[in-house]
Amino acid sequence: MDNRPEGGERVVLVHINFPAGSMQEDLAEFEELARSAGALPVAIITGTRAVPEARIFVGTGKASEIQDAIKLHSAELVIFNHALSPAQERNLEKLLQCRVLDRTGLILDIFAQRARSFEGKLQVELALLKHASTRLVRGWTHLERQRGGIGLRGGPGETQLEIDRRLIRNRIKNITARLIKVRQQRGQSRQARKRAIIPTIALVGYTNAGKSTLFNRLTGADAYVANRLFATLDPTLRRLELPEIGPVILADTVGFIRHLPHDLVEAFKATLEEVTEADLLLHVVDANDERRQLNIFQVNEVLKEIGGDKVPQVLVYNKMDLCQDFNSLLDRNAESEVKRVQISAEKGTGLDDLQNAIIKLLGKEIIEHSIILTPEQGRLRAELYRLKAIISEKTDEEGNLNLKVRLPKAELQKLLSTLPKPP
Ligand code: GDP
Repeated sequence: MDNRPEGGERVVLVHINFPAGSMQEDLAEFEELARSAGALPVAIITGTRAVPEARIFVGTGKASEIQDAIKLHSAELVIFNHALSPAQERNLEKLLQCRVLDRTGLILDIFAQRARSFEGKLQVELALLKHASTRLVRGWTHLERQRGGIGLRGGPGETQLEIDRRLIRNRIKNITARLIKVRQQRGQSRQARKRAIIPTIALVGYTNAGKSTLFNRLTGADAYVANRLFATLDPTLRRLELPEIGPVILADTVGFIRHLPHDLVEAFKATLEEVTEADLLLHVVDANDERRQLNIFQVNEVLKEIGGDKVPQVLVYNKMDLCQDFNSLLDRNAESEVKRVQISAEKGTGLDDLQNAIIKLLGKEIIEHSIILTPEQGRLRAELYRLKAIISEKTDEEGNLNLKVRLPKAELQKLLSTLPKPP
């Protein structure tokens, strides 16, 4: 489990409990996020406060505790598991004589490392710029590098800060325009896919639930799997053939985290759009995580936020190989068996159940059905014959056709919806 990233930055983590408020963050997740960013946590400072301190977020006692930890462990960075105001961040850096990153900055850093597609990179850069625009003290340095220092000096009378602001504003405008173009192009390819009637199945879930492992299991693709959060930032699409279903597009998406800052949800529309447009969601859950119910809830909350809650969903309890007595732990809610399967993506167990659930929810299960066609609706008979769907047929006294048919449910529904209404 504990794959430490190589060459990690030595960091001090700061996690403050605010018992009364909604600012409660999760320490274990925080550690995972930090490691995921390539950091090596050398000390964890925790504490409890009623409300954040205005100037430096923590009290002076806590601040000197952090200072001691930095010295003792030769730390190069302090990460707070909270959103800091730009002023708090600056004051802390001055006081601690050490780089300080807040939670949003940490998540952005992970996103920046993992962005692979053009669109994903643009999205991340946009979010970074927006975050940096209020933190100009050091936020613009990477821009300077990118532009090779050219054009950094503005007209007379402009302060460096004004130049920086102008640079950032222009860059934000530029990226936004390019994003719109990229989105249009992606929309077109999605349209093409829709026309081809290939259903899209999107994997969603909490970070580290096993989405990439399942994706690879199903596609045999060599997508990047690692015991790191956000191993898959951009929509990773694969076309695959599923028995009894035919071709589908499988989309792997960015992992969800609790309390994802709202700006970042927006920044990752590239991934989230795939989710809302999917025909089916495989919601992967780490069944061995005692917080699984909370994780499920969080994922569904974000799905609601982006309109992805209207897409049918299979709840895929993964890592069943690690679970001793799972059934007794299971929350007995209204979920039907179809909508809930238990698998081990790593060991490859339970995949038949998963496939049956996919078949059912995509409306691909074969059903037997009796239909009566009036003489005016006779055209459908030829179509049903073409599909080899007719088991038997009889004509009654009025000339109506009594058909017994066998075909995928969704297909039958589609055919019946095209029938002219009987007079
Ligand atoms: P993602 O963040 O949701 O894409 O998760 P990954 O697919 O990267 O998996 C996270 C970690 O869980 C990796 O170390 C996997 O090897 C491990 N994992 C995934 N599926 C299983 C499983 O079925 N059983 C066990 N024991 N570990 C698994």
